[in-house]
Amino acid sequence: MDMNRRSLLKGTAALGAAGFAAAAHAAPKGKAWDETVDVVVIGSGFAGLAAAIEAKQAGASVAVLEKMPTPGGNSIINGGILTATGCPQQKKHGIKDSFDLLANDMLVAGLHLNYPEKVKYLAQHALSNYEWCVKTLGVEFNPDAIGQEGGHSVPRYVFTKNGSGSGIVSKELEYLAKLGVKPRTRTYVQHIIRNPETGRVEGVEVRTGYRFPKAESGKVVRIRAKKGVVLCYGGFSRDVQFRMLQDPKLVATLDSTNQPGATSELWRETSRIGCLQVQDDWIQCTPWNNPKEKGMGLGWTFSQSGAAEYGLWVSTSGKRFVNELANRKIRADAIMNEQSKGLRAVAICTEPNMKAYRVARPGMIDKLLASGVVKKYDSLEAIAADFKIPADTLKATVAKFNDDVKAKKDPEFGRYINNEQVPLTSGPWYAAEMSPKVHHCMGGLVTDTACRVMDVATTKPVPGLYAAGEATGGVHGAVRLGSCAILDCLVYGRIAGQSAAKAA
Ligand SMILES: Cc1cc2nc3c(=O)[nH]c(=O)nc-3n(C[C@H](O)[C@H](O)[C@H](O)COP(=O)(O)OP(=O)(O)OC[C@H]3O[C@@H](n4cnc5c(N)ncnc54)[C@H](O)[C@@H]3O)c2cc1C
Repeated sequence: MDMNRRSLLKGTAALGAAGFAAAAHAAPKGKAWDETVDVVVIGSGFAGLAAAIEAKQAGASVAVLEKMPTPGGNSIINGGILTATGCPQQKKHGIKDSFDLLANDMLVAGLHLNYPEKVKYLAQHALSNYEWCVKTLGVEFNPDAIGQEGGHSVPRYVFTKNGSGSGIVSKELEYLAKLGVKPRTRTYVQHIIRNPETGRVEGVEVRTGYRFPKAESGKVVRIRAKKGVVLCYGGFSRDVQFRMLQDPKLVATLDSTNQPGATSELWRETSRIGCLQVQDDWIQCTPWNNPKEKGMGLGWTFSQSGAAEYGLWVSTSGKRFVNELANRKIRADAIMNEQSKGLRAVAICTEPNMKAYRVARPGMIDKLLASGVVKKYDSLEAIAADFKIPADTLKATVAKFNDDVKAKKDPEFGRYINNEQVPLTSGPWYAAEMSPKVHHCMGGLVTDTACRVMDVATTKPVPGLYAAGEATGGVHGAVRLGSCAILDCLVYGRIAGQSAAKAA
């Protein structure tokens, strides 16, 4: 190394250490710790619970800290669709897939901003993760249904039997309870304690008995983590100020699918203690939420698993405007573009194309019809009249689309035509409006393959600090593919827990 480069690096390191020392939260001296455990896990979603399971199984004592009154975060309200390349459901439907194809889909959608080694590892564990869910946790998936979210080359997601992420979280909680660990709810982590001299993370400062969102509620307690702290605190889609700092388009009037506790305090705290973060401004909006519902709702299940996969999407111009199976960014942007012209986006399907949706989510369409989120029509003309769509244009669009379905080729937008899709000719017809909502944070903490968090000044692991799930960046790049978050959280959550338990 030449002298100039060496001194430059030395200078940078010194600057980093000084910057960190100034910002570090003081470690308590002597008896100032209120409690000591081996591993502290922050967050009780997919990732945190998976980390806790592995750490505990490896012999560590574990505390899972959760600020909200109930465990589960976004994971427990999640839609329960999991990428499972190689699963029996794919085989049942004659779908050819491979781990390489999955990895490539993730990288293409991610605009290659995602770290290839992280993506590859995840893709290679899609089947073993599905098997871990089934065989170890006892999660029940629908044995017959397989679905295709936007940006995936082939159908590859399975559905939990209860139609929700709670079908996985409840099993993680049960498994953990058998190991003797129960998440401590109403426990707000306000500081991560990093020793300014050694650089090691030594524990956390929390408020027990915390009442969300009152920052000053509860009693301050300090918990020492002898082996490590695992950060699984999720995203910040509900934090309007922080998300608008990253992406000013994500204004307060744009609803979010997330639980109210998806806020930024630990994103700021990890910056303060010198953790490296990337791509925080890549925040995903869904395309298919229904504006009649608050938050995620259920209407999206029809617009995605029914209309996008087997029917078509039009705007109130009467024309298709996007590949219904493009990635979420492309579809959400296309809907917003139609909305900017004063048009609305409408998902349409017919009864013969609802077979797979009915198998995947039994009874759901009846629920959505009863609530008025999806409406049933006798004819295409009736949909046109209800949404004020020019009927002739809509009829011509559907006729052209039917030719594409028959030819198994979509020259206009290049969408995937499903083996089991049929032309939209006979009713009853179903339709629902769609409007984007703020959904997922792709960016976050930089971790290595052992899930160790990197220091911003040195790009070396912060001793005693691990992370997984939506709190981390670099896995999904610019765009997360639907049904890949559960995979990410479980696979890397488990590794983070194993790494922390192994630490000296
Ligand atoms: C409605 C919805 C549906 C979705 N559906 C799917 C799907 O079907 N398939 C899929 O792959 N992905 C889906 N996703 C994405 C996926 O659910 C999330 O990315 C995933 O749940 C994140 O898990 P996590 O463990 O990283 O974080 P979370 O599950 O969000 O858990 C983080 C936890 O940390 C807690 N926390 C935060 N800050 C603090 C603090 N200061 N102190 C203590 N605790 C704190 C939070 O309260 C929260 O409980 C969906 C997301 C949403 C919102």
